[in-house]
Amino acid sequence: MLEQTLAIVKPDAVRKKYAGSILARYEKEGFRVRALKMRLLSKTEAEGFYAVHRERPFFGSLVNFMVGGPVVLVVLEKDNAILAHRKLMGATDPAKADKDTLRALYGESIESNAVHGSDSPETARFEIPYFFSTTEIIG
Ligand code: ATP
Ligand code: MG
Repeated sequence: MLEQTLAIVKPDAVRKKYAGSILARYEKEGFRVRALKMRLLSKTEAEGFYAVHRERPFFGSLVNFMVGGPVVLVVLEKDNAILAHRKLMGATDPAKADKDTLRALYGESIESNAVHGSDSPETARFEIPYFFSTTEIIG
């Protein structure tokens, strides 16, 4: 089924100039880029985006990391995009991520792990409109 997922090139990867390589990989893997923008997230936006993790010990650090530099927000589309993108990202901890995944290639730690991806259709339904209005998504 044709699906959309939210991808974020996180501040560590933007800072290290990996955004272009990551977008090129998305195109190479058959994703269509339906929306794209670079943003500096506010603390409130980052806290709201990762609200499911509010009680986790790493929440404060995660929010600080996510507002520490610009991110690239992307809506990707493909058959089974959500699962396909999670597979391409690799495990949360880059040290445990499969070879050739984005986190293995570009991540530096369990927190600074280069990319985000929606993890279910419900999450994607929350995350895509969190950053994009319908007019910003090009069908
Ligand atoms: P994401 O939601 O960013 O796509 P994920 O679904 O693989 O990543 P989650 O468990 O949802 O992983 O964690 C969200 C983010 O919080 C991680 O991507 C990482 O940046 C950070 N994080 C997760 N676990 C830890 C940890 N133990 N220590 C520090 N940061 C962590
Ligand atoms: Mg997650």
